[in-house]
Amino acid sequence: MTTPSHAARPRPGGSPALQAWVDEIADRARSRLGTGRVADYIPALADQDPERFGLAVCTNDGQLYTAGDAEMPFSIQSLSKVLLLSLALRTHGDALWQRVGLNPSGMPFNSLMQLETERGKPRNPFINAGAIVVADHLVGAFATPSKHLRDIARTLSGNAGILIDRQVLASEWQHRARNAAAAYLMKAFGNLDNEVDEVLEAYFACCALRMSCADLAIALNYLAADGRALTTGERFVPPAMAQRINALMFTSGMYDAAGDFAYRVGLPAKSGVGGGIVAIVPGRLSICAWSPALDASGNSVAAQYALERISEGLGRWSQEAGRLAPASVS
Ligand code: GLU
Repeated sequence: MTTPSHAARPRPGGSPALQAWVDEIADRARSRLGTGRVADYIPALADQDPERFGLAVCTNDGQLYTAGDAEMPFSIQSLSKVLLLSLALRTHGDALWQRVGLNPSGMPFNSLMQLETERGKPRNPFINAGAIVVADHLVGAFATPSKHLRDIARTLSGNAGILIDRQVLASEWQHRARNAAAAYLMKAFGNLDNEVDEVLEAYFACCALRMSCADLAIALNYLAADGRALTTGERFVPPAMAQRINALMFTSGMYDAAGDFAYRVGLPAKSGVGGGIVAIVPGRLSICAWSPALDASGNSVAAQYALERISEGLGRWSQEAGRLAPASVS
């Protein structure tokens, strides 16, 4: 993917009515602050302020609506798994599925149980073991996969300031026992080509990227737009691939609460333990909500609440967007 020569990052603006709606949802979501707990199993994440809340909605025609801490970078953690998967599928195509499954695990994201009984083939690319196999593919394909992913994040979001947080990376490395156990188990079953330490380092560095809600809503808009990146106008992944990534997000993107979230919100989404959730309205919008306090499944309480309200109001959104630009709304 080439770097855009023009400043293509969408800026907040567009419809005052839609902006007011996003502000209203952010206000209501703030009433949920104070519920849930910040992840502390990665010590560098433990001091995140649970009172933070950000929301960004990006339309396929390049309007950005933001509220609260939408421009504040946070640790994207498992949201990186969407970019990792997109990059691996771009590079290796469907061959990836010989080594990673396509089904929900119904287990915590770092569980080792199925990995033993299923002979080292992770259930899907959004649990840790699955993303480690995806990272293994990228270690084989790129000299420094995490820097490559960081550069892609910069290009897709139009923000050249995106960085890997070295403190979070070091903290994850220090507390890597469970991810290392998964990686060694897969290595023992012949499902990891490269050295465990090298693969884990790449995986942790991708999780340690810092991006804001605005960065993420813009960067992942390709999933709402048949694979076409908003900032470059180029196709980042083919349309069928975008559709399949959305399907996997729908079935496996929200830890072991994917079914609950699908029932309540009905959108493909991916959650991270940094408190971010990205959701996609195919053909129309990409959304990122963030607040660090998590529920028992590891999903941000306030971010889920905001996404539920957005999903409820999509009809209203369509009406207003249709009034603004009828041709751009499907
Ligand atoms: N880096 C985290 C881990 O490996 C990612 C967890 C997540 O956000 O789901 O545990």
